[in-house]
Amino acid sequence: MLQGKFALGFWRLCDANISLNELENLINVALDNGISVMDHADIYGEYRCEARFGEVLKSQPSLRDKMYLVSKCGIKFKCDFTPNNLVKHYDLSADSIITSVNNSLANLGCDYLDLLLVHRPSPLMNVDEIAETFYQLQREGKVKQFGVSNFTPSQFDLLNSRIPLLTNQIEFSVLANQALFDGSLDQLQQYKLRPMAWSPLAGGKIFNSDKPQLTQLLQELADKYAVSVEQIALAWILRHPSNIQIVLGTQKSSRLINTLAAQHIELDIQDWFAILETVNGYPVA
Ligand code: NAP
Repeated sequence: MLQGKFALGFWRLCDANISLNELENLINVALDNGISVMDHADIYGEYRCEARFGEVLKSQPSLRDKMYLVSKCGIKFKCDFTPNNLVKHYDLSADSIITSVNNSLANLGCDYLDLLLVHRPSPLMNVDEIAETFYQLQREGKVKQFGVSNFTPSQFDLLNSRIPLLTNQIEFSVLANQALFDGSLDQLQQYKLRPMAWSPLAGGKIFNSDKPQLTQLLQELADKYAVSVEQIALAWILRHPSNIQIVLGTQKSSRLINTLAAQHIELDIQDWFAILETVNGYPVA
């Protein structure tokens, strides 16, 4: 189950250059503060991030049962580990999915994933083949639940018609708010499924966006609610009624703790719309 308002993502783990002790501390701080969902993908850090995280799990196996491990499959690109990928592409064949899951399990050092997501929809995806492969992975005990990421509502319905999906992990932040208008959030609300929001701080861009009026407004609201700018940006996401789970990207435990207070902020409805208007540059009709 996707428990809690927040998940922690490890896309930036290898870039963050943190020691194994710091990583272990980050994981423990997350778990101690109610963040059990750990978001990975086979490709993060050119296939190195899961292995790095796995070093902690291998030295502290008791941590595994305290967390809900998410990984993703399907994106292929060329790097040192994959010289045969001449062009970036998506491969959602049975072989590709099974190889990806086996690699993730080996790298993470565990027997099963709690949730596997199709990382991106492919124009060539065969949903029957994907569903059969997912059911096989479930029977083998390698993956408990399935979902997708970056799917349009019709793509979600297409795969969901073959196998029940748990979530659609989508980009969502004050700066990337198209999910409000393209039906993605409506659909998950309709199915009573929780969306996962990636890059909730727009990858850090909310702190230096090219919208000075947004910077000013976020600071004014931070002052009004006596919280930080990032907490306002996260509270704006949590104000949506679809019960979004935010996938945080920081690799700093101090920042992680600071962001959590966002879940206790109830943004006034006019403040929520003021942010939307400022980002979009026009008021709602
Ligand atoms: P994010 O929270 O929007 O951005 C994180 C970045 O913002 C980090 O570089 C972080 O730096 C910086 N940051 C955080 N607080 C800050 C502050 N107060 N001041 C300045 N900089 C600050 O999230 P994200 O990393 O882009 O994405 C989160 C997760 O979503 C990823 O780890 C991954 O699991 C998932 N994701 C999924 C997809 C997909 O296609 N499904 C795509 C992208 C990401 P520090 O580390 O220094 O704090």
